[in-house]
This record gives sequence, C-alpha cells and structure tokens, in this order.
Amino acid sequence: MRTTCPYCGVGCGIVASARRDGDVEICGDSGHPANGGRLCAKGLALGETIGLETRLLTPQIGGEPASWDAALDLVASKFLEAVRKYGPDSVGFYVSGQLLTEDYYVANKLMKGFIGSGNIDTNSRLCMSSAVAGHKRAFGADAVPGCYADVELADLVVFVGSNTAWCHPVLYQRVLKARAERGVKIVVIDPRRTATCEEADLHLAIRAGTDVRLFNALLLQLSRRGALDLAFVEQHTAQYEETLARAAADDCSAQAVAAHCEVETRDVETFFAWFAATARTVTAFSQGVNQSTRGADKVNAIVNCHLATGRIGKPGATPFSITGQPNAMGGREVGGLANQLAAHMDFGPEENVSRLQRFWNSRNVARRPGLMAVDMFRAAGDDRLRALWIMATNPAASLPDAGRVREALGACDFVVVSDCVAQTDTAKFAHVLLPAAAWGEKDGTVTNSERCISRQRAFLDVPGEARPDWWMIAEVARRMGFAREFPYRAPAEIFREHAALSAFENTGTRAFDIGGLTELSDAQYDALKPVQWPVPVKSRTGPQRLFADGQFFTPDKRARFIAVAAQAPAQSLSARYPLILNTGRVRDHWHTMTRTGLSARLSSHRPEPCVEIHPDDAAHAGIADGDLARVATAWGSTVLRASCVGSQKRGALFVPIHWTATNAASALAGSMVNPFVDAISGQPEFKHTPVRLDPFIQTWRGFLLTRTEIAPLAIAYWAKRRVRGGLLYELAGGVGDQMPGFDVFGNAGQGGERVEIVNDKQCDYRLARIVDGRLTHCLILTRSGSLPPREWLSSLLDGIALTLADRVTLLAGRPAGGGGDEGPLVCACFGVSRTRIARTVRDEKLVSVEAIGAVLGAGTNCGSCRAELRGILETEALRA
Ligand code: SF4
Repeated sequence: MRTTCPYCGVGCGIVASARRDGDVEICGDSGHPANGGRLCAKGLALGETIGLETRLLTPQIGGEPASWDAALDLVASKFLEAVRKYGPDSVGFYVSGQLLTEDYYVANKLMKGFIGSGNIDTNSRLCMSSAVAGHKRAFGADAVPGCYADVELADLVVFVGSNTAWCHPVLYQRVLKARAERGVKIVVIDPRRTATCEEADLHLAIRAGTDVRLFNALLLQLSRRGALDLAFVEQHTAQYEETLARAAADDCSAQAVAAHCEVETRDVETFFAWFAATARTVTAFSQGVNQSTRGADKVNAIVNCHLATGRIGKPGATPFSITGQPNAMGGREVGGLANQLAAHMDFGPEENVSRLQRFWNSRNVARRPGLMAVDMFRAAGDDRLRALWIMATNPAASLPDAGRVREALGACDFVVVSDCVAQTDTAKFAHVLLPAAAWGEKDGTVTNSERCISRQRAFLDVPGEARPDWWMIAEVARRMGFAREFPYRAPAEIFREHAALSAFENTGTRAFDIGGLTELSDAQYDALKPVQWPVPVKSRTGPQRLFADGQFFTPDKRARFIAVAAQAPAQSLSARYPLILNTGRVRDHWHTMTRTGLSARLSSHRPEPCVEIHPDDAAHAGIADGDLARVATAWGSTVLRASCVGSQKRGALFVPIHWTATNAASALAGSMVNPFVDAISGQPEFKHTPVRLDPFIQTWRGFLLTRTEIAPLAIAYWAKRRVRGGLLYELAGGVGDQMPGFDVFGNAGQGGERVEIVNDKQCDYRLARIVDGRLTHCLILTRSGSLPPREWLSSLLDGIALTLADRVTLLAGRPAGGGGDEGPLVCACFGVSRTRIARTVRDEKLVSVEAIGAVLGAGTNCGSCRAELRGILETEALRA
C-alpha cells in the first residue's frame, strides 16, 4: 500500500506491506516526489510502532468503558448545553497537524460553520503560525512559493533556525546530494552547532532572537552591493523604500551586526557576500524562526531579502518555510487556525462569511477569529470555555506553561479527548475519551511543506472500537441537529466538498484552489497520486512554484515589503534566571513519543531526558557530564541528565520536548517555557525563556528492567524507555527518597526465582527475578558504587532462556568473557552502535564517514548520524 509518513512535514511516500504474522514492512516509495524512495530512521521504524499495547480501543465516560452512542450523545448534549447557556464562544476544539485534511475539514465546518464560533485552533499554532502570518503579510496569501527541487537547484542554501539534518532528514539529504554533485554552499544560522552545521561552509551561531537585525542588515547590504533586482522591485512589490529606511535606522555594518549577534565580523561579511553574489539562493527556515514573540517579523525580514533580489518563484531561488508536522499545511487549507476561515479565506471581508454561508447552507458562520492555542487554554481555566474537545494532540505536555494548562484542564466543565493512545498527559483530564483510528488504519490526505497533497491510506484493520476522526465529529454534528449538512460516509466525499469550496467563487483571488480535484470519483481518489496545489478547475496538476509571473495575492497583485524592527525577546535574563532556555527535537523521537517511544531502536539514541549545556556553564554551576541537573524557570522546573557539549552556545541550555509525565518523573520542557506569544501570529516563544541551572543532589541511583509497566514511582528522578523485550527505567533518589525494593514490581513480581546481592559497604542492591529460566525483572541500585552497562542485561529480557554462564554473571551485569556494552545506537537506520563503530574504526583503520558507511552501512541511508560518525572518527584519531 502506498501511503505517507505520519511524522515530519517533508511528507515522504512509503510503501507499507502488512504480513500475515502481523508485522509490517516499510520502505520508501521511489515514485513519491518528496523522497524518491528515501526514508529516515523514524519513517523506517514505523513497523515497530503499530502494536496495540498503548492504544485506546473503546470509548470511555468518566474512565469507564461506554458505548459509542452513549459517548457521542453526551458530547453533543454537553456542547449544545454550553452553547445554549453561554453562547457559541463558550466551546472550543483544539486540533492537530496529525489529523488528516478530511478530519480537519469536518471539525472546522462544525465549529466555524454551524456552532458559529471561531474557537478551533491547532497545535500547528506552535510550529508555523509565524510563517503563515509572514506569508500573508508579504504575499497576500498563506502560500509557500518554492518546492523541494529548489534546494537541489540552488547554489546557496541558508538554513535559519532549522536543524534540518535531524528534523527533516530526507530534505537535508537532497541538499547534500546536490552539494556532492555541484558544490552547493550551505550556511546555517542557529545559536546551536547542530548536526546540520557539520556539512556547512559557514555557521553563524547568532545570539537567540537577533535574526531580524541580521536580515535587516543583509537587506541594506544587498542594496549597497548592487545586488537588488530593481526591475522586480519596481514592477512587482510595494513598500520597499520605507522598509529599507527602517532597516537603515540601525547600524548595519558587519562589525555592528556581528557585535549585536555575538558572532565574528568576518563570518557576517562572508554571509553578506555569498548571499549578494548568489542568484540561486534558498533560505529555508523552521521553528527557530517561527517559535518567537517576533516570529512573524523574522519571517518577513527573510522574505524582504528575497523580494529585493527577485529571488522568488524561480528555480533554486525562494524563501522556504519547512513545516514541522505531516499535515500542518492541510490544517491551514481548511481553516484549522482560529484566525482563518476555510479554504484560506480571511475573517475580514464580509463576502467571505457570506460565501461560506451559501456554500455550507448555514446562517451561523463565525464572523470573528476565535481563541488561539495559548488563550484557548487560559479560557478553559477561567470559565470562558465550558466545553473543550482535544483531537490527536497532547497539550498538557506540549503547550508552554504546561502546569497552568493542566490546572485549566482540571477546572474545565467538560473535556473530550479523541486520540489513538490511551494514556497521555492530556487524557488524564478527559471526561470522555474517544478512540481514534491510527496511522495505517485511517484514510485521507495530507499536504507537505511544498504544497504537495498525498494520500495516507489504510492497510491495517481498525482495531477494537476505534473510528476515524471525521466519523466521530460528523456523528456529534448530527446529534447537534446538523444531520443534513454532515452526511459523510467516506473521506472521498469530504475531500470533494473541500476541493469544491476551494474553487467556489474563486476568480483567481485565492491562492488555495484545488477545483480540478472536485470531480474525482471514489476510485480516482483512492488512486490519487501526489499533486501540488493549486490545481484549478479543468487541470489535474499544479505548478511547482508560485509567483513565477510576479503576481501575488494582494489587491494590487504586488508583494509587500514589511518594515520590521529588531526587538528583544519577551523576557530578559536576570540574576535569578541568567541563562536562555531553548527547546526542540532530538533525532529519533517525535513530539511526546506516543509513537516513536514504542520503538526500542528509536529510544536508544537519546536514552534519557537531558539538558545540553556548554561545558563552561556546566563547570560554573558545578555540574559534570552525566550528572543530574535541576533546570528551573519562573514557570516550572525539571530534573534532567546533563550533557556537556561544545555545540551549545555559552549562556544557553537546550532541552528536548519529548519527555512527559507518562515517561519521566520531571522532564517536561513545556512546564518551563514562558507563555508569551507573537502578537501577530499567536505563536509561543519556545526558544527563549530565562532559566537557571543547579546541581541536583542525588543520594542513590540505579536502573530497573521489567517486561511490563510498573506503577508510578514517588522519587525525584525516573525516566522510562523501551528496550527489546521490555522497559528500562533509569532511577535516582533525591534527599529523603527511599530506594525501591522488590515490591516495586507489584503483583507482576510474584513467583519464580529471586536472586539478590547486597553489598553493605557501597549500599549496592542487585536483584533479579527469573521465571521458567527467563529473566523477567532486574533491579540494580547503588549509593556510591558504579552501575553496569544496560545493553547486555536489557537483551536478556527478550525472552531467551538464560544459560548457566548468564546466570552466574547476571547480577554483575556483564556476560561471561566480557563485552556486552554496545553503547547507544548511532545509526538507527541500520542499528549500529557507538561501540561497534569505534571498534571498527580502530580495527579497520577507517578515516572517513564514507569508509564507515562502506564497512558498516552506518550513515548511508538518511545520513542524520553523519555528524556523530565524524565525532567518533575525531575521538578515535585523538585516542590514536
Ligand atoms: Fe518521515 Fe523522515 Fe520523511 Fe520526515 S524525513 S517524512 S520523518 S521519513
């Protein structure tokens, strides 16, 4: 079955084959334009994440199983009751870039079209709403001008605030291929030296939040160096002079900019010179630009430079927003953002509301924007929002000031959560839980970062009582009295209506137009090949690039320069919080790990929740690499494993967003992030919260291996991850925390053989439980001693019968004869560990990443481990 990856916005095509034994084989779809057959480690591991062990399979009311009828009746009646008593703005939907376009369309139609409120917002607000705002200000429409082929055709690719090598690996590989073939230059602008920098010709590690100053200065430099396309500016743009004047208000010399951004003057000069001299330039940006209280301004500062040079709508020349989620773009198309109507229509003009009223046959279309994500949850906590339906997302973990979000969810009269996962941080607050179909079971379309609409197809039976999201929303709509308007029996019907709306009274003034797909039969919809919008009526394909003719979607068809001023982030550093907290993704996990956390392979690369710290900052705080550290902001605090890395800028910490209360004691990045948002886009500032760093006093530490989940532990630090055959919990106690004993295993620990060692001197305690000759549990704790490596012991959980030799050395944690410590996986695509790579480099005298690839395969698929391979080569060279 040809389908699409459910992770990042690259939107790679996948061929999935369900085997009779229940396993699923995954490979890249060589016919898909996004990836041409390549997949990264996350996509390749999808077959390991389709198990049912964490699934929600029946509706629940108040934590008890219920029938679909009872659950849907209750949801509809509670929403109706709130609307009747308190008005339409007393209810809301918080939806997700994981939804398919058809799900999204039905949700938006119900809220904005029939309930009559703008209160539907999406978690895409957190990842790319600044790009939307920037596009609309500059182009008059939320339209991404370029396509993926542009990164291969460019002579210069500038990545701004984007660790593309890890977060969009297949797209990054396309750049590297072009670099290998044609010597494309790469510039990375990012406070961190990420994996994306490893292949870069220039890295500008600017101080967080200084992007606008850098790009304003670039605009001025382009003008001074005669690099402008004056004919394009003259014929196709407006507001150039005032924008240039605004940029010139600051000292835009390379020296002044370098001092402001805290980088070398010669590097700034090099960047200016390369950008000025390279007609084929792509500037790709992502969360580092968007997730800011100045996000929209940063986007426009970048777009200004492309407009000034006419580098838009041409092969290899474009600003390029790379979206985070698989269907962030689809959500934008249907009006999933609270400040947009469906089909890219804005709230402002009355004719848009009137058009929707006629198209949907509703007199109740919302006339004003609704609550955006952060405000929506504030409203849920102070009685403005009485009923809230959260679909396919985990805001109790992912929103900023997550502690306040939890309080709000606890205070809200009625919370519905529809999800495919039973236990998320958010599900705990649900009055009603609705089981949703998951990837592989659901059917519909998604749109990737280059406006390419692809089918996600079902190839697995829907388990239990799970149902597609569009079905449950339509069922609630019918119960609310809108049966005639929500008659859908299949996603193809919804897609045709969505396509028809995009073309309805669209005289070329609205960018989003897929009228050419309105007449698709069910069979044609099933067979739909990836297609880029717009696809106007009478056509079946769209142009790769927009704005090639210099015509934009503003009333006078001219693009707008936007004058933006450099401004500091919302919160300044202080003596109490002297460092900057930056948050983001790691290589092998996705969002709150509800899917990638099911793969032992993907869980191995970053085994614990960590904080990355520059070694100088760590030393100043009295923290060594591998220690636990307390990281605290004015909003919340965490306990995390310290990772002291030179790639981190001095004065800034980096914390991954993936760990939640479901898989760690105290590692929730969202709990520490300040809730300030961009006034234009509503996007929160995930990249800049003042923070402090302190050592964590640990009184004991250890780990626990178990085949099954254990009850939550009341200790300061635990972090859970999947290993082959079970789960591994890393443990540590703070002052007053008791060491756990055998009872930690609960009833699952009854019976079998029990082997224990107690070493009073170091207060070591080691315990194993063996049933039918197989290891089922293992607990190893110490106050002052060392701990054995985890890999060999973990491998024994896999159900194999223990040999006599294994039993003898079990509690030593090492196999008889030594070895067993393979270290974390470096190449997740081929399962190659750090220890094996280092050993092979030594034994075979390898000196290049390519040589490692030739011998072990590592780094030859998605390539996102190449930076780590280089690090191992350097370490081994030093060792030699
Ligand atoms: Fe999926 Fe990886 Fe492709 Fe993104 S780059 S869509 S995560 S396979």
